[in-house]
Amino acid sequence: MNKKWIPMMVVGALAVTALSACGNSDNNSNGGGNAANGGGASGSVPKIGVAIYKFDDTFMTGVRNAITDAAKGVATVDIVDSQNAQPTQNDKVDLFVTKKYDAMAINPVDRTAASVIIDKAKAADIPVVFLNREPLADDMKKWDKVYYVGAKAEQSGTMEGELLADYWKAHPEMDKNKDGKLQYVMLTGEPGHQDAVLRTKFSIQALQDAGIQVEKIAEDTAMWDRVKAQDKMQTFLSANGDKIEAVLANNDDMALGAIEALKAAGYFKDNKFMPVVGVDATAAAQQALSDGTLLGTVLNDAKNQGKATVAVASVLAKGETPTKENVGYDITDGKYVWITYKKITKDNMSEAK
Ligand code: BGC
Ligand code: CA
Repeated sequence: MNKKWIPMMVVGALAVTALSACGNSDNNSNGGGNAANGGGASGSVPKIGVAIYKFDDTFMTGVRNAITDAAKGVATVDIVDSQNAQPTQNDKVDLFVTKKYDAMAINPVDRTAASVIIDKAKAADIPVVFLNREPLADDMKKWDKVYYVGAKAEQSGTMEGELLADYWKAHPEMDKNKDGKLQYVMLTGEPGHQDAVLRTKFSIQALQDAGIQVEKIAEDTAMWDRVKAQDKMQTFLSANGDKIEAVLANNDDMALGAIEALKAAGYFKDNKFMPVVGVDATAAAQQALSDGTLLGTVLNDAKNQGKATVAVASVLAKGETPTKENVGYDITDGKYVWITYKKITKDNMSEAK
């Protein structure tokens, strides 16, 4: 090979190295080239485009950090913010295709819109791993290079309900009006999200299965958001303050928002207590558990969800089929990786760390 090629190869290697830092590398045909063009160490690992539904989400920030950690030495990841807009995410997917990435990991804004993304991925023959927001089963069947990494929403709902059921049984004073029924309010996540729908349903189901009669005082969406939840809880309290005997939230951020509103209404001091349960076991929720404001939560394992996403995507990027052996996680029905949830209270908090 003559000397003329050497600067070209350096440019190619730089383009690949710069991939994760720079949003736009359509400088020349080497930019999205394969490992042979890059030549250097970073050229030999697969390139994965990752689109998160929005960066401003506590739980997904944990997953995002886990993806970055797990990718070290395994893959080059280009993680982008879809800013909670499906059209923006679709543009990001187009960009991943233009850049000829080897695989994509997509946390859909609208899980029912996954089909558009699958069509784009299939046309470009770039495998896609969805995470956290589960596409409809029919869409998952559209192509054999489509996978999902997530957790069973119904399991988290059941565990959340069981935490509250155990507390109710151990604390008869929780039945403030002594009518033998549990009067509750429910703060739900984004409508249509499998975790919102199923946590709402299965948490109540678990209470009933434990033999507890329940009565819903109020239910409203706070869109997974702490500030919105604080607002909703304030409204619930001013309308029905004395009737409420427990608060269930579809995630910890909303549980923490509710706790703020409860504190402002005089709870968590002078023997005034309200059982509040959530899901995720975020760092802030763990703090609330140790403060004694949050009664219980369910570990939504961001670390393993991020790790499994990188593992499945990089195996697919190499043109291989994911198996328990090459990804380290069970593959169910040929395309699902399910990470299990775990009940967390003050007593076993260290297991969530
Ligand atoms: C988490 C929420 C998060 C949502 C984002 C859920 O699994 O529990 O905290 O906001 O995913 O899609
Ligand atoms: Ca009651």
